[in-house]
Amino acid sequence: MRPIVTLAVLAISFGDTLVLSQSTDGLVQRKPSVLLITLDTTRADRMGFLGSTRGLTPALDALARTSTIFTRAYAQAPITTVSHATILSGTYPLFHRVTNFGSPLPATVPYLPDLLRRQGYHTAAFVGSLVLDPKIGTASGFDRGFDVYDAGFRMRSPGEDRYRTIERRGDEVASRAIAWLTSAGREPYFLWAHLFDPHDPYDPPPDLEQRFRSAPYDGEIASVDRIVDRLVKAAGPGTIVAVAADHGEALGGHGEATHGVFLYDETLHVPLVIRLPGVGSGFSRTARRVTTRVRLADLAPTLLDAAGLPRPSAMQGESLIPLVRLKPDPTGTTATGTTAAGTGAVRLEPDTAGTTDDRPAYAETEYPRQAFGWSMLASWRSDRFLLVRAPRPELYDVIADPGATRNLAATRPRIVAGLTAELEQFLAWSTGADGSRRSGGSGRSGGSGRSGGPNRSDGPDRSGRAGGSGGVAGARIDPAVAERLASLGYVGGSGSTPAAGGVDPKDRIAVANTLHDAMIAVEDARFARAIPLLEQVIAREPGIPIAQLNLGIARARQKQYARAVPPLTRAVALKTDDMRAHYELASALYETGDVTSAARHFAVVASTMPAWADARYSLGSVYARIDRIPDAIAELRAALDLEPRHFRANLLLGRILTLRGEAPLAVPYLRTAVNVQPDSSEAKQFLAEALKDGK
Ligand SMILES: [Zn+2]
Repeated sequence: MRPIVTLAVLAISFGDTLVLSQSTDGLVQRKPSVLLITLDTTRADRMGFLGSTRGLTPALDALARTSTIFTRAYAQAPITTVSHATILSGTYPLFHRVTNFGSPLPATVPYLPDLLRRQGYHTAAFVGSLVLDPKIGTASGFDRGFDVYDAGFRMRSPGEDRYRTIERRGDEVASRAIAWLTSAGREPYFLWAHLFDPHDPYDPPPDLEQRFRSAPYDGEIASVDRIVDRLVKAAGPGTIVAVAADHGEALGGHGEATHGVFLYDETLHVPLVIRLPGVGSGFSRTARRVTTRVRLADLAPTLLDAAGLPRPSAMQGESLIPLVRLKPDPTGTTATGTTAAGTGAVRLEPDTAGTTDDRPAYAETEYPRQAFGWSMLASWRSDRFLLVRAPRPELYDVIADPGATRNLAATRPRIVAGLTAELEQFLAWSTGADGSRRSGGSGRSGGSGRSGGPNRSDGPDRSGRAGGSGGVAGARIDPAVAERLASLGYVGGSGSTPAAGGVDPKDRIAVANTLHDAMIAVEDARFARAIPLLEQVIAREPGIPIAQLNLGIARARQKQYARAVPPLTRAVALKTDDMRAHYELASALYETGDVTSAARHFAVVASTMPAWADARYSLGSVYARIDRIPDAIAELRAALDLEPRHFRANLLLGRILTLRGEAPLAVPYLRTAVNVQPDSSEAKQFLAEALKDGK
């Protein structure tokens, strides 16, 4: 008898991977542990198991040999927090509403760690970047349901090592994760490890630097591959393992340097492998390779399904288990002569009853709107097409044109109209606005939102979202958070940024790239490099507040205070609620001697952001300069209530009190100042004088 292959989409592997069909077969004795590894900024085309010949991923390839490979997995957003919110919640951005940096994850959204913990799992997260640090505001709410959420990043001062402040190398993330994993009594566990390394700037570890001198991004991929190996080995053979990227990296594709603005495959096609260990006997076999398009929104429901746990109805993704599990063909052909090579006389087919082969994939990016005031973008991958909703819509036939190079929108209007209608239905469904939100995996329509709902022509309207509390409309991003984001080259927008004036991001991508470079340069204190780039951006587009702000900051750090004032004034005018702009403008004005104007802007900041210690200190110091001493003392005390070890506030308050003849009151502040900065001769001198006067 000839070997039979039932479905062209499946390459079947025998013997090595067995899926536990727990939910239907009732074969579970214990809950399996789950290891989720997310690779930041990792392109699908660098994976050996997806066809790369660069030889970067031997460990991932080995894992893939005992796993199911999803060759067409798509992220729902090219931004770290948005994509991770989708991965961990199994819901779409319109529902979970983490649509930008700083948007909190609402407590009402279903959340994988929370669900697993309620099922008795030990849960831990180990992340590699301050972008995913819930405590400093950029991933607020992400620690829900985790026993341990290991982040603890902080701002980087000039000259400090980025890997000790804003980022952690994957090796260290893995070491911390493995230490937790190997301590006693963890089973069953859910461990999420986030490896940030491939994110720019590309900087492979020292031992890979030489080999990848001309391709440092590839060096980062080779580095995370070794880390994945460590984690998978530590997790042991009985653990469910999922590895996915949160998004890819454009590397110049479609003119984009990094990621965040566009929605093409460079940044949305992601590696995804899931290992489902067999336990015991009598289990169905698993597909080796699934070529059906799948979404990262499907991952959380899949992991629950694989662990034999119920999926909450609010989860919008669909379990992938039906695509993975192979069952004997109903004609009753029995297995004979199976081989590891994937040919055999057994007739198997995927257990896909009730699902469709075509699962449309939605993605969106708010980043161009929130950062630059351009249009947001949304995309819809369905059938053989990619539709990009933009001021000038785009349509690509990705079978004939996988690189998405020929926009067919003008010549295929009926296809554009049909896909747009599907997208509209999906949008209505995924917000929950049409009241027909289906439970993950239980539907029959492939998650495409074909359940109806009003057609809309006004684009993704956020007003109908059903994500519960934690709304972000009009939310003001904390200036400190904005600064942290800037340190990574991102623009921390706020929901109150004016809506796009119809600028199509594809017409301005060069501006976004240059601004990104410039912001990284400002972060690295390379102001001489940053200034001409920012001047270039502003010459092209004077209306981007963050460009004006960064030019002002760069000039001020170069002590060109008078030249810093005009761009900072424009930054404030463009975005009057940007407190960091007011703060930087006030600081520059102070240095130019315009103390009265400085006081006015510091007062705006201190009253708007009363919990910002630096702002209270700065206002106090300006008041001291213009002889408003009681006001100065009040502001300095406020700063110290917020940050008791604030060096300059302690120093100045101690000095003022000494000069007012209240030396005994001054001593404790000056002692703290000396304690915080033992090398400060000024602090030591002021303390000595206060001690002398106080006698
Ligand atoms: Zn990311």
